[in-house]
Amino acid sequence: MRRRFGFMLPLVVFAAVTTTILGAQQTPSPSQKPAWLDAYRDPASRLIGEAVSSTFAWDRLAVLTDSIGNRLSGTPALDRAIAWAVTEMNKDGLENVHTEKVMVPKWVRGNESAEIVEPARHAMVMLGLGDSVGTTGDGIQAEVLVVHTFEELDAKAAAAKGRIVLFNVPYTNYGETVRFRSGGPSRAARHGAVGMLIRAVGHSGLRTPHTGALQYAGDVKKIPAAAISSEDADRLQRMADRGSKVIVRLKMDAHFDADAESANVVGEIRGRERPDEVVVVSGHLDSWDVGAGATDDGGGCVVTWEALRIMKKLNLRPRRTVRVVLWTNEENGGRGGLAYRDQHRAELARHVMMLESDGGVFRPLGFGFTGNETGRETVKAIATLLTGIAADQISPGGGGADIGPSMAEARVPGMSLEVDGAKYFLIHHTPADTIDKIDPAEMAKCAAAVAVMAYVVADLPQRLGE
Ligand SMILES: [Zn+2]
Repeated sequence: MRRRFGFMLPLVVFAAVTTTILGAQQTPSPSQKPAWLDAYRDPASRLIGEAVSSTFAWDRLAVLTDSIGNRLSGTPALDRAIAWAVTEMNKDGLENVHTEKVMVPKWVRGNESAEIVEPARHAMVMLGLGDSVGTTGDGIQAEVLVVHTFEELDAKAAAAKGRIVLFNVPYTNYGETVRFRSGGPSRAARHGAVGMLIRAVGHSGLRTPHTGALQYAGDVKKIPAAAISSEDADRLQRMADRGSKVIVRLKMDAHFDADAESANVVGEIRGRERPDEVVVVSGHLDSWDVGAGATDDGGGCVVTWEALRIMKKLNLRPRRTVRVVLWTNEENGGRGGLAYRDQHRAELARHVMMLESDGGVFRPLGFGFTGNETGRETVKAIATLLTGIAADQISPGGGGADIGPSMAEARVPGMSLEVDGAKYFLIHHTPADTIDKIDPAEMAKCAAAVAVMAYVVADLPQRLGE
C-alpha cells in the first residue's frame, strides 16, 4: 500500500519536486562550503530524491506495527520482529546480514488494575511500571498520600508508612519528570510505603497512561508501582485537597521470568576502500508491551535501515562500511547496546561515527552531534546538503541509549536524529503509539537525512574529526 504522496506522480513532476527541494538551498557560509562538499551534491540529491519519492519506509513500518505489533524484550513478538528484519534485509540486498546474541531480562506484566475503593469505587486508568514487582493475593489496599517532590515526601515520612504514595508531578520535560518514575518507588519504600503510583510521565492526553521502566535501589524493599492517567491523578489530588480519606487497591501480576535469548540485528554495505572502518546507524527494535511501538522505536529502526536500502538501490557504496544495527532490549536494560560494545570492543577504535534514531520520525530538523570541533564543522557542512528538506540543524549532544556504551568506550563521535518532538511525549510508552501518528512524508525525509549524513561521513577522504 502506497498512499498520500500520490507516488504515481509523473516523472516530470517528480523531477520538479526534487529540484525545488534541492534548489531551495540557502547559500551555506564559506566555512560550510568546503571544496570536498561539491562531490557529494549529486549523491545527496539522488539519495533524497529516492527517499522522498515513495512511502516505502512508512509501508515497511506498517508491516512491523500491524502484523507483529509491540515487542517487549523476551516476547515471541520481538523474536518474530528479529527474524522478519533479517529476511527483509536480505531481500534488500544488504550484506553480512546476521544476528548477534544477547541475553535479555523477561519482565511479564500479566493482569493488573487500580481502583479507588473509598470514598467510592472508581476504576482508574493505569499501567504498571516496567520491571515492577507484583502484588500478592488480592492486591494491596491502602490510603493514598499525595506528594509532588522527593523533599515533600521526606518531610511527610511518617505519613508515608503503610500508605500508597502518589507522585502527582505535572510533566515539565522528560529528564526532569522521569526521575520520579525511576526513583520514586524506592524513595517511597524507604519510608515504609507499600506501593507507589505516579502521574503518567508525558503530556496530558485523553486519559492515557504512560508506562516505562523503574529502577529499584538495591538496599530497600521493592514495592509495586504503576502509572495512572493525569486525569485520575488530578481526581485523587482534588479528593485529598478536600480532606477525603482516599483508599486505593492496586493489583499487579507483574514478575520476571528467566532471562531470554534475543539478538541485535545487523546489516551492512561493505566499504569499497576501508571496509574495516565503520559508520553505524541504528534504532531499537524492542518496545513496551502497549500500543505498537511505532514511534518508539519502530520508526527509528526503519529510517536508519532505509538509509542503507536506498544506498544499495542507487549503487552508492562509500569508502567505509555503513552498518545498520537494530538493538534489542533498549527499554528495560540496554543489554543490546552493552553486548555490542563487548562483542565489538576490538573494532570500536575503527568506528568513525555512531548514530541512533530514538526520538520519533516526525518532521526532521537535523542532528545532535557529540565529538570534536573538527568533526562538528564537518557534519555542519554535510548538513547543508539537507537544507532543501529543512533538516540541516546541528545541535550539541548527539547520542543514544544503545550507542552510549560504545561511544564512551572508544570515544566514538555520536549522532542522533533530531525531529519536531511536539507529539513525542504525548504518545510515548502509551497504547496510542501507533503508526497513524506518523506522517509518511516526514518519515521519508528522516530516511533521506540519515542516508545523506551516513553516506558522506562513510565516504569522506579524511576520517570524521581528523
Ligand atoms: Zn525508545
